[in-house]
Amino acid sequence: MRWSQAFIPTLRDDPADAEAASHRLLVRGGFARQLMAGIYSLLPLGTRVHDKIEQIIREEMTKIGGQEFSLPALLPREILEKSGRWGVDVMFKLEDRHGASACLGFTHEEIFAWIARELRSYKELPQVWFQFQTKFRDEERPKSGLMRVREFMMKDSYSLDVTPEGLDKAFQQHFEAYRRIFERLGLDVLAVEASSGAMGGNESIEFMIETPAGEDWIVSCAACGYAANVEKATSLLESADDEAGPAAPEKFATPDVRTIEELAAFDGGADADRQIKTLVYMTDDAPTLLLLRGDHALVEQKLIDGTAAESLRPAGADEIRETLGASAGSLGAVGVEGVRVIADPALQGRTNMVTGANQDGFHLRGVSLERDIQVTEWMDLREVSEGEACPMCEAALAVRKTAEVGHIFKLGTKYSEALGADVQVEDGKSAPIIMGSYGIGVGRAMAGIVESWNDENGIIWPVSVAPYEVVVTIVNPKDVESAEAGLRIYESLIGDGIDAILDDRKERPGVKFKDAELIGIPYRLTVGPRGLADGKVELFRRRGAEKRDIDVHKAADIVLNAILEERR
Ligand code: ATP
Ligand code: MG
Repeated sequence: MRWSQAFIPTLRDDPADAEAASHRLLVRGGFARQLMAGIYSLLPLGTRVHDKIEQIIREEMTKIGGQEFSLPALLPREILEKSGRWGVDVMFKLEDRHGASACLGFTHEEIFAWIARELRSYKELPQVWFQFQTKFRDEERPKSGLMRVREFMMKDSYSLDVTPEGLDKAFQQHFEAYRRIFERLGLDVLAVEASSGAMGGNESIEFMIETPAGEDWIVSCAACGYAANVEKATSLLESADDEAGPAAPEKFATPDVRTIEELAAFDGGADADRQIKTLVYMTDDAPTLLLLRGDHALVEQKLIDGTAAESLRPAGADEIRETLGASAGSLGAVGVEGVRVIADPALQGRTNMVTGANQDGFHLRGVSLERDIQVTEWMDLREVSEGEACPMCEAALAVRKTAEVGHIFKLGTKYSEALGADVQVEDGKSAPIIMGSYGIGVGRAMAGIVESWNDENGIIWPVSVAPYEVVVTIVNPKDVESAEAGLRIYESLIGDGIDAILDDRKERPGVKFKDAELIGIPYRLTVGPRGLADGKVELFRRRGAEKRDIDVHKAADIVLNAILEERR
């Protein structure tokens, strides 16, 4: 490609309200343009990168025996209803001219399970099925350019097995394939234990990259490698050194005290870690009290996972008053009967604590958990904080902001049972297929690479996904000797299968260098009269910004070898 004929609309300035580095650079570099909130067009450069990422993923999926499909983006209501996912919050719904409902696929478990009904016998398993398909999700907050959008390409794959051991194996194979994919993409990922959330199933691992543009917090241990999403992470706490306290709780007046902090500051109150925080949630429409240590935060996902509630939300002021007879700020569980009380294990065995008295403006001190509160269930609910002890090795944990680039799930039989996908097993009986589901967002991976690889001058693509691997920059196209030498090198590289672009534009050299650095081309060969006078051209490597003069006749070979070495 000659740059003079290419559509590479680079911008001098950052787009307004683009905070994430990848958002700024992919727009400025002419890779992508926003059409509306969370909807982007990929321009030629973006398409090239996207295609290369897809190809790497495709190769690794094929290596583990994956067979490629192409399912529709438009899905019928009836099938989604069978699994109970018709109408989920991210679904874009539509109607055809006859009034039949459909939706745009936000993931494809149901459709693959539907197709899997054609499998008859366990002898046909295992299978690994995958596709690249556009997913549509009506995200609450599209954000950070391509990181969180409403329409995106996903590689989704599904493993079909007849035994749990088969699923374990498919899961492990995907885990390893994902590791290789992210390695080839130049992404430094951390595999973390994750909540399975609404997907069902019991085991899931997320692949995370560290970035300020992320929306997930993860907990990790540098000493032993333990890593988990905060939605799932736990830690060890130092055991508390409580006094026994009085023989029964004592009520005391706490006028104007409504928060944990105010009670900690109140004369006669207690430090936050000696308070019991009482939250009221409606779980499947029933009031439920949640008890946490005063300085601990609730992780709602843990509550969702732990209760398996279909619906769950904080109770409203009226519901709270109806349940406990007081308002938020003076709530507690002492003496409460007939209401489900879920307590976090950090409270186990604690004595002489302070909590609300269920009477506005009053609290209780001298509260002992086991003695004074009827806990229905103990359930890990709290968020881990930086510096707490690792549950595996007790070293200090770190909490980091990350973005998920891939996710693997053991689904089990939820979708195969819902859709009726079963096979004959050995003894003549039939059994539902055991499924796994595995996803990588192609656009998010692309943005993630930019988040990981950029500097003040622009993007630094790894060779494996760069839109062009090398630019041959002719300093002055009017200089016939430079133009000819540049063209020769460019054609030689193209002949060897290198993705080269020839910068033959009639622009100042500074403009050309800036553009090439902004769009992140890994290598640049600069061909100009000054160097050619000594038989030299300049080789510039974007990563590390190294420059050296090389012999014009060897230039194509040197670049060819460097690129072949770095292609993965
Ligand atoms: P998130 O928690 O970030 O919303 P998710 O758990 O909903 O992700 P999955 O349903 O597991 O995501 O989808 C698999 C992959 O698809 C994710 O790992 C991510 O790479 C990508 N992905 C998911 N949602 C989006 C989105 N809105 N925009 C771009 N990529 C996405
Ligand atoms: Mg999501």
